Amino acid sequence: MKSLKDIVTGGCGFIGSHLVDALLAQGRQVYVIDNCRVGRQSNLINHANNPNLEIFEVDVSERKTMTKLFTGADRVFHLAAMADIIPSINNPELYIDANVNGTYSVVEAAHKAGVRRFIYAASSSCYGIPKSYPTSEMSQLEPQYPYALTKMLGEQIVLHWAQVFSLPAVVLRMFNVYGTRARTSGTYGAVFGVFLAQKIANKAFTVVGDGKQTRDFTYVSDVVEAFIKAAESNLVNEVMNVGSGSTYSINYLVKLLQGDVVHIPKRPGEPDCTFADISKISHMIDWKPKISLEEGVNKMIENIDYWKDAPVWSPESIQEETKIWFDKLS
Ligand code: UDP
Repeated sequence: MKSLKDIVTGGCGFIGSHLVDALLAQGRQVYVIDNCRVGRQSNLINHANNPNLEIFEVDVSERKTMTKLFTGADRVFHLAAMADIIPSINNPELYIDANVNGTYSVVEAAHKAGVRRFIYAASSSCYGIPKSYPTSEMSQLEPQYPYALTKMLGEQIVLHWAQVFSLPAVVLRMFNVYGTRARTSGTYGAVFGVFLAQKIANKAFTVVGDGKQTRDFTYVSDVVEAFIKAAESNLVNEVMNVGSGSTYSINYLVKLLQGDVVHIPKRPGEPDCTFADISKISHMIDWKPKISLEEGVNKMIENIDYWKDAPVWSPESIQEETKIWFDKLS
């Protein structure tokens, strides 16, 4: 009988848990592999009684366990990774272990299991400070910090396994994904978690620089659809951008979120704009983003309680936290 078993590494995380929701809704059998350091099993609480879901709290670098768990799998979605810039500068080894060696472990297990499809969650941070917009997949890769470097190396491992070992892999480079369950705790990270916690606490939004910089904010349900379409396609050894088709300023985001603003210094190594060229993915798998920033922000505000325990960053605590960023990257 045809296997319906999908492996989702990082399935307890922000994007991974939304992907698991969608796969289970399609009647797939899902094995989630997550070390639950950042991901939370509570993100999958809606499926607590679903016999099609099994969660394995284990690190992807545990090769023997991976080989065992991957046996009989039909498809693999590899999202498990260490995220965030600052800890990657503080402790690059952790990132090499998780994002490079971890990816090696996953491609090997997938290859041994003879999976039918393999989708890798890559990051648009590989482009660094792009020279042209919208940025196409052919653009130069210039990672600016260890997180970006290790995600790019992971991508190269996946593509190498596609080329040499015929792993049926596709790489999706995601641009500024946001949505409900975007990570809340821990280090100073992605802007939505920062701003929503500030909104709850009635504190000013800490806008970097003049706020005119723009980001290709892409809503998580659109990203999930791209993963599923890529998995349902026959494409192999292709890299595709996943973006919103637009780019929005931080000032506009703040206007949508409504609140006071305080400005903090511009950070080194940050592009003034991220903006994906999505013509390739549109042609190749007929994918288009559906959720506008206005709709996406409304959905987050409706679910703002999710961020009620998130750290509330101030200009002072951000300055302290980002010191190493300024020291090393300036
Ligand atoms: N940003 C901001 N205030 C913050 C954190 C981020 O204005 O406290 C801005 C940042 O300058 C960038 C955008 O929000 O233009 C997205 O930042 P994030 O760190 O989420 O993603 P990245 O910079 O890696 O694209």
